[in-house]
Amino acid sequence: MNRILASITSLEAHAAALESGCEALRPRNCPHCNGCKLWAHGYYERKADRGLGSEGALNPVTIARFMCPACIHTCSRVPLCIAPRRWYNWAVQQRVLLLILTGSSVNYCSGFAALDRRTVRRWRDWLAQRSEDFVFRLRSRFAELGREIDTPALWCSVMNDMSLGLAMAWLDQDLIVP
Ligand SMILES: [Zn+2]
Repeated sequence: MNRILASITSLEAHAAALESGCEALRPRNCPHCNGCKLWAHGYYERKADRGLGSEGALNPVTIARFMCPACIHTCSRVPLCIAPRRWYNWAVQQRVLLLILTGSSVNYCSGFAALDRRTVRRWRDWLAQRSEDFVFRLRSRFAELGREIDTPALWCSVMNDMSLGLAMAWLDQDLIVP
């Protein structure tokens, strides 16, 4: 869907891109009809500064919105340091999912990361439900992942070598990892 802007890795860099006119934030193509020449279409705000070490100082985060004149849909992209439609950033999710993948319980992860058990369970279920599709696409692009003995080992390798955020950006088709 091209929702993740892999080249912008911090909220500070994202704020700078907003100030310099949003060109770096503009999607190349409409995610709905693949049309080009999207128009700037205002902004919205979302809370995203959780687990980033700045204790909420950068909330709310302003996200630029764009409109496609061909199909009249709007779209936007978030920087790599925050996750689309999630309160917590990829780094926090990765820490918790690595624990889950190596056998820790939901209760343990919840206590360890000071997160609600429902949040941990939701992330665990999300990865389990999407894994088959994600793994198929990752393995078809990164041959070395074919050597991992099972899916948990593959995810550990992806998170340790590439990071969950970059893997999601790649799956989201914003980034070609060399
Ligand atoms: Zn469109």
